Amino acid sequence: MSTPESSIQGAALSDIAEEFGTPLFVYDTEVLQRTYRDLRDRLPKQVDVFFSLKANPNISVCAFLGRLGAGAEVSSHAELVTALRAGVDPADVIFLGPGKKDHELRACLDAGVHAVVCESLEELTRLDRITAARGGGECIAVLRVNPSFGTKGSGLAMGGKPRQFGIDEDVIAEAKSHIVALAHVRVAGVHAYMGTRFLDQADVVHNTGQILSTAEALAGRLGVPLETVDFGGGLGVAYFDNERDLDLDALGAGMREVVEPFARRNPRCRLIMELGRYLTAMAGTYVVRAEYVKESMGEQFVVADGGTNHHMAAVGIGSFVKRNFPVRHLGAPAGAPHRRYSLTGPLCTPNDVVAKKVELPEVRPGDLLGVERSGAYGPTASPGLFLSHGYPAEVVVHRGRARLVRERDTTEDLLAKQRLVDFS
Ligand SMILES: *Cc1c(COP(=O)(O)O)cnc(C)c1O
Repeated sequence: MSTPESSIQGAALSDIAEEFGTPLFVYDTEVLQRTYRDLRDRLPKQVDVFFSLKANPNISVCAFLGRLGAGAEVSSHAELVTALRAGVDPADVIFLGPGKKDHELRACLDAGVHAVVCESLEELTRLDRITAARGGGECIAVLRVNPSFGTKGSGLAMGGKPRQFGIDEDVIAEAKSHIVALAHVRVAGVHAYMGTRFLDQADVVHNTGQILSTAEALAGRLGVPLETVDFGGGLGVAYFDNERDLDLDALGAGMREVVEPFARRNPRCRLIMELGRYLTAMAGTYVVRAEYVKESMGEQFVVADGGTNHHMAAVGIGSFVKRNFPVRHLGAPAGAPHRRYSLTGPLCTPNDVVAKKVELPEVRPGDLLGVERSGAYGPTASPGLFLSHGYPAEVVVHRGRARLVRERDTTEDLLAKQRLVDFS
C-alpha cells in the first residue's frame, strides 16, 4: 500500500516513473494554476504578472502560464523563441539581461516585444543603431536602474551595490542628453529587480514602494513618460523547516496601498511584476529512484539515480548549514519504520547531497523518492552535463494525464555535438 499523496491529479507517480523512467521532473498544472490565480486575484489589477523563464524554461510550462494570462520575461534568444512559440503575445514579452548581443536585440525588434530592458547607456546606443540599420521605426526601451537604496529582505541583495546589472541611479539622473540624442529608441519606463526569495510580504511592499517613487523621480528628471514600470518580484517559497510561505492576503493589501496612489498619478502606466520561482516551484516534484541504500560510519545513505546534477538548488542557497528541501517517500508501506537518510546522487563528488539526514519511512533499493517544491531552478540551474549523465525527462500532468514535455538526454544526444578528430 502506498501513501495516499503519491499521485498527482489521480495519476500515480509510480506509474509515471514506470512510463517515463527516472530521474524525472513532474509538473502539476493544477498547482501552477492555483498558484497563479491566487496571486493574480490578490494583486492590484494594474499589475501584470510576467513569468521569468529563467526559473523554468520548459515550453509547455511557459505555454500553460501564458494561457492563464502571464506575460514572459526573457533573457536570451532561446528564451525569447520559447515564449513566442509557447504562444505568448509579443506585446507581453520583455527582454532583459546585461549582455544582450546584436542578434538578440534584432530578434526583439523582429518580434515586436513590449520593451527591451536596457542595462547600460551603451546598450541604448547599440539598440538605436540596430533599429536604424533595420530601416528605422521605433523601439521602446525601459531603463533598468541599479538603485542607490539597498534591498530589504533578500539574501541576494540588489541595489546600493556595484553590480553589472542596470544603470546606477545617479548615472540615469544625468543621462538626459544621452536619451534625447537617441533617434529611434524611445525611453518610456523604469525597471528594477531587488533580489530573490523574499518571504516577508512587508519587504516586497517596501521595495515596490521605493521603486515606484524612484521611477517617478527619474522620469520627471529625464522628461520621459512613464509607460512601463517593472518592479521585479523575487517572491520566495518556503523550502526549509524554519521558513514560512508568504502571506498572500497581506501582500495583496500592502501592494494595493503602494500601487493605487501611483496608478492614480500615472493612469496609463503598465505595471509589471516578474516572477520565476514563485510561479513554478510549488508545482514541480523531482522524482528519483533509490539505486542503493548503504551505511557509512553510522550514517544511512540513499544513493539515487539523480541528484544535484539536476537539482543544484537543493544544495541549499546562501547557507553554510545544509538545509533540506521537502523530501518524501513515494511508496512506503503503511507502518514502515522511520529512519534518517542522506539522499545523494550519482556524481563522484561529496557535494552531491540533495538532502542531509532527513527522516523517511524505510527506503529500499528500487523505491521512489520525491523532492517537492522543485519546479524552479531545477535542470536549468544545474550541471546536467557533469559526469555525462545528461538532463532528465520532464513530464506535465494535466487533467489527470501525464505527458512528456522534455525527453531525457541519451548517450547519443550527449555525444552528438562532439567531434572525434583523426590524430593519425
Ligand atoms: C532571476 C530574475 C528574476 C526571477 O527571479 P525569481 O526570484 O525566480 O522570481 C526576475 N528578474 C530578474 C531581473 C532576474 O534576474
